[in-house]
Amino acid sequence: MKPQAPDTQQDTCINPIESAALSVADARESILSTIQARTESERIPLKESLGRILGEDLCAPFDVPPWDNSAMDGYAVRSQDLPGARQCRLTVVGTAMAGRPFDGETLAGQCVRIMTGAMIPRGCDTVVMQEQAIREGDFITIGAGHSGGQHVRRAGGDLAAGQGVLNAGRRISPADLGVLASLGIAQVTVSRRPRIAFFSTGDELRAIDQALDAGAIYDSNHYALYGMLQQTGVEAVGLDIVRDNRETLQHALTQAAADADAVITTGGVSVGDADFVREVLAELGEVHFWKVGVKPGRPFAFGRIGRAWFFGLPGNPVSTLVTYNQFVQPALRRLMGEDVAPPLQFKVTCVTALDKSPGRMEFQRGILETNAAGETVVRSSGGQASNILSSMSEANCFIVLPAEWGDVPAGTLVEVQPFPAL
Ligand code: AMP
Ligand code: MG
Repeated sequence: MKPQAPDTQQDTCINPIESAALSVADARESILSTIQARTESERIPLKESLGRILGEDLCAPFDVPPWDNSAMDGYAVRSQDLPGARQCRLTVVGTAMAGRPFDGETLAGQCVRIMTGAMIPRGCDTVVMQEQAIREGDFITIGAGHSGGQHVRRAGGDLAAGQGVLNAGRRISPADLGVLASLGIAQVTVSRRPRIAFFSTGDELRAIDQALDAGAIYDSNHYALYGMLQQTGVEAVGLDIVRDNRETLQHALTQAAADADAVITTGGVSVGDADFVREVLAELGEVHFWKVGVKPGRPFAFGRIGRAWFFGLPGNPVSTLVTYNQFVQPALRRLMGEDVAPPLQFKVTCVTALDKSPGRMEFQRGILETNAAGETVVRSSGGQASNILSSMSEANCFIVLPAEWGDVPAGTLVEVQPFPAL
């Protein structure tokens, strides 16, 4: 049975077979302008929110720090008492420790021994570092050259009461957890993690606990995809390998789409005799586009089956990783309400020659490193064929080569996109 046609895609649906290849930027743009954030959210304890997408705008309920405090170990003094020239002598009337304020009033000619993080005592407004004070019994002597207000961390100097702190759409980082804890925020609203079903297609594929018979290979995409989905922060639901058979694929896709926000498949998306993804997708749902001018990864399908978005990735392991990174990852981030900026990209010198034919934009695997002269340079991480997964695991960046470029001589300035780990 054909699932109900979605209502949002009339204008972006193009004929899957006759369409020309889209540029990487257009494909990305098309996906991001089609997918809207799913709005369900949940309230969870702060600790569990690491890596989740904030679903509310948060303001500071009070000043951080809540009161003026010392940035140094030393003496809290009154700025009126600071000597303009020569030196002055002050009486130490008490001690202020972090968490143990001095609760007296400090009068003219008096000072208070103070530790980093302690509240500035009433009457004081300045701290003199202990290295710059000479202590003798209950007195200190300080010289000239101090300025009023020095070494004091002002109330609200980090965050002022009422100030916007973090906005909806932000992925919560370890530092964010700290910021929210400093505000006493124990629960946060985050977007629901979308449920993403994924499976590999191919008669040659075996699960890693099976023996390899002649002509068979292990389903490495399942694991690479699982890893990337985990990094993206979605609920990854791995399904069994699907054989190159129309009916089996139809059944698997229908089942997967019924219970997921998106379905991702690898393999079978090209034009070979055992490639059924395109046909089956056209029957079950909608194909948004088919070919992207990218290497590796040209055959790439984006579409929809019922309520679920569909991404059909090419089977070659590096093609799977590249197309996931460039197209699926931003799409899933959008789906969970995250602000999606274009990937960080900058120019560095490539110290190795790169083979390339004009025609498609290429994402070559590179290693960004610091050379002996202290400059950041990039080199190829090895073989660039789309089945060479080892050079992908070695790499820490993509070297992005424009479609029209041919071979790249060593010493050329190239664009790179660093990534944490793929
Ligand atoms: P396909 O996209 O199905 O034409 O596959 C292209 C190449 O990728 C073939 O050499 C496949 O054997 C290989 N391949 C497809 N799926 C996987 C997978 N899940 N794990 C490892 N290699 C795969
Ligand atoms: Mg195949």
